[in-house]
Amino acid sequence: MARVHNFSAGPAALPASVLSKIAAELPDYRGCGMSVLEMSHRSATYQQIFDETEACLRRVLNIPDTYAVLFLQGGATLEFAAIPLNLMRTGRAGYVVSGHFSKKAWQEAAKYGDAVLLASSEGTGFDRIPDLAPVDARCREEQLDYVHICQNNTIFGTMYHELPDTGDIPLVADVSSCFLSFPLDVERYGLIYAGAQKNAGPAGVTVVIIRRDLLEDPALDICPSYLDYRTQDAKGSMLNTPNTFGIYTCGKVFAWIEQTGGLAAMERRNRAKADALYRALDESELFGGTAHPDSRSIANVTFRTPAPELDAAFVAGARARGIEGIGGHRLVGGMRASIYNAVTMDSVETLIDYMHEFEAQHAPSARSR
Ligand SMILES: *Cc1c(COP(=O)(O)O)cnc(C)c1O
Repeated sequence: MARVHNFSAGPAALPASVLSKIAAELPDYRGCGMSVLEMSHRSATYQQIFDETEACLRRVLNIPDTYAVLFLQGGATLEFAAIPLNLMRTGRAGYVVSGHFSKKAWQEAAKYGDAVLLASSEGTGFDRIPDLAPVDARCREEQLDYVHICQNNTIFGTMYHELPDTGDIPLVADVSSCFLSFPLDVERYGLIYAGAQKNAGPAGVTVVIIRRDLLEDPALDICPSYLDYRTQDAKGSMLNTPNTFGIYTCGKVFAWIEQTGGLAAMERRNRAKADALYRALDESELFGGTAHPDSRSIANVTFRTPAPELDAAFVAGARARGIEGIGGHRLVGGMRASIYNAVTMDSVETLIDYMHEFEAQHAPSARSR
């Protein structure tokens, strides 16, 4: 099996062993005479797959029983609407805008209530997480239904290294691109959500983890039934047909995480990969990291050369070497290496070797020689 070095931001690399397991089970799932793709979501066999998937996630992330776990559809983007539709009970919530997706979340929430902008780093091109002291201060002064953050900014390569102190106000976090990259203290949050396609499985599944007391009050009257967390919880995420194959695949990824040491081991490996890449960037005279050093992500490493033509040449040369998905997001250009759980150190070293090779040809000192 010839596999590329896949640095795609999402849908992204999955562990090879997970793909093999799925392939082996596909035509005839454990003697059922049919594949998971063909099975009723109401069957006992599928319910067992679903239950074990949720149980495994609860073990891996250490999710207390006081939290509900939902497996929904519509991506993180649909949660941008679902969150205010469920939780904006007094009609006023706070948003920290640290990148493209958190800005989208803020704009979406403004359709349903007063979405208060608590802090933004747009002024510096989203190169950092905004200063959180003013956010903490406003949480002490103001009545807000929740405070929303995007914990890892996939496009800009920044990540929160500490969380805002929102006091009694529930913290709501989009963790799409850092979900399962490291342990989370679930109890710090009122709600955590993630599109699976970055680190947890295939596109088409969104995991929502919500503190049960937030389900006690009803959603807004206009909330579509599908988006109503209380309804979805009562129906076991099966108000309608769920993404059966996607959830099954997530279950395989969760089991792989558990079998390879859990989230502490994932974090160690992810930090080692990120450290190696950032070291290469800091030592380079051609490539530079675009995120402020205090806000660097361990999941998405963004960088560029001084010239868009050189960036394009780097991306093209990478592809010729079996290094895929290294181009930056279309909004920002440059390069981005997404080094999610399934991306190996071997792939990162291959990328660094190629960076050295490219630099030897294109660095200012090489050219003046
Ligand atoms: C990818 C991503 C999204 C958008 O996810 P969809 O599943 O495409 O809706 C939102 N937030 C973050 C942090 C992301 O990385």
